[in-house]
Amino acid sequence: MLVAQSIREKLERSSWIRRMFEEGARLRQERGADHVFDFTLGNPDVEPPAAVIAALRRVVDDGLPGCHGYMPNAGLNDARSAVAGKLARETGLPFSAADVVMTVGSAGACNVILKAILDPGDEVIVLVPYFSEYEFYIGNHGGKIVAVETGVDFLPDIDRLQAAITGRTRAILLNTPNNPTGRVYSAQVLAAIESLLSSLDHPVLVISDEPYQSLVYDGNEQSPVAATIANVAVCSSWSKSQALAGERIGFLALSPRLPDLPALRNACTFANRVLGFVNAPALWQRVIAQVPDVHVDIAGYQQKRDRLCDGMASIGYDVRKPEGAFYVFCKTPIADDIDFVGRLAHEGVLAVPGTGFGRGGHMRLSLTVPAVTIERALPLLERVFCAVR
Ligand code: PLP
Repeated sequence: MLVAQSIREKLERSSWIRRMFEEGARLRQERGADHVFDFTLGNPDVEPPAAVIAALRRVVDDGLPGCHGYMPNAGLNDARSAVAGKLARETGLPFSAADVVMTVGSAGACNVILKAILDPGDEVIVLVPYFSEYEFYIGNHGGKIVAVETGVDFLPDIDRLQAAITGRTRAILLNTPNNPTGRVYSAQVLAAIESLLSSLDHPVLVISDEPYQSLVYDGNEQSPVAATIANVAVCSSWSKSQALAGERIGFLALSPRLPDLPALRNACTFANRVLGFVNAPALWQRVIAQVPDVHVDIAGYQQKRDRLCDGMASIGYDVRKPEGAFYVFCKTPIADDIDFVGRLAHEGVLAVPGTGFGRGGHMRLSLTVPAVTIERALPLLERVFCAVR
C-alpha cells in the first residue's frame, strides 16, 4: 500500500460534504439529474461581476512581456498594494503591501500562516461547529486541533475559550461570516475576544478566515476583525465575493500591530513557496489589482435564504436565518442528523449532516442552488419531516 497510514485515516473521516457530493453523483446517475436537489456544495451559482470579466479582458489584451513568468513569492506589488489599500480603508490601520502575501485562495492563506507559526504539538483552537477542512489544515503542519463549543446561539463563549487556552496555544481560528452557521460576529463579540487575548501572558494569534466577508444580508456589514483584534492574520479570497472559486485567488494579510512583523512576513513568504504554491496565479493577481472591492450582488442569495427559511419554518423546522455567508444551518427534527440526512437523500434532497462540522443534531443546506430547486425541495423536506414526527 503506497498510501500513508495517516492519509488513510484522514480519508476515513474525510469530509461529509464530499461524501454527500458523491452520493449526489450516484443518485443523479440512478434517477436523472432532474430528481436530485443538491444543497451540499458552497460553489457560487452566480457569474463573476461584469467589472471583473472586463478587467480580465484588459489584462489579457495588455499582453505585457513576461507576464506569465515567475514572480516574487509574496506576489505582485500592484495586487499586494490593492489589498493593503482595501484593508487600510476598512480598518483605519496602516496596512502596507509588505504585510500582504497573495495566496491560492483563503485555504492557501490558512495553510501558509499555519505552516509559518506551528511546531509539532502546538495547539490551534477552532469554534464548534467549524469548517471541517480546518482539522486537516492544522494537521498538515503538525498542529493539534482543540475544538471549543460555542454557545447555543453559535457565538464564541469567552469562558470556554479561556479554559481551552494553554501554554501550547498558538492560534484561534475565527470565521465570520461563519460557515456553517451564518452567524456574523459583531464588534462587541470581537472586543470580548480581544480583551481575553490581551490578558494572556503569551501572544496568541487570531487567524481570521474571511472568504464570506462581503456576503452579509439585510443591509448589514461585517465589522472588520483586524480593526478590533490586534494580533491577527487575515485570510481571505475572491472565491465567494466575486464568484471566482475555481480561479484560486486570495491573500494573507498580517496586521501592522503584530509583534515580530518582519520575521513573520518572511516566514509566510517562505511558507507560500515551500508548500509548493510558489506564488498565487499571476493573471488573477493582475485582475484583482484593478477590482479589489467589487463583489457579486447578494440580493439573489438573500431571496433564496428567505424563501428556504420561511418555507422550512412553516413546515415546523427549527431554523434561524443566516446573517451572512450562504448556508442555512438548522436543527434536524430527530437527534440523529446522519439518519435524517439519509432519509432526505432517499427523497433526492442532499444536505450535509451537522456531524460533519462537529455539531450533531443539525444539517447544512447551501443557498448556491437555483430558486426552482428550493421550490421543488420544500415538499420533500416536508414529507421527511412529517415521517419522523
Ligand atoms: N474557509 C471557509 C470557511 C470556507 O467555507 C471555504 C470554502 O468553502 C474556504 C475557507 C476556502 O476558500 P477558498 O476557495 O478561498 O480557498
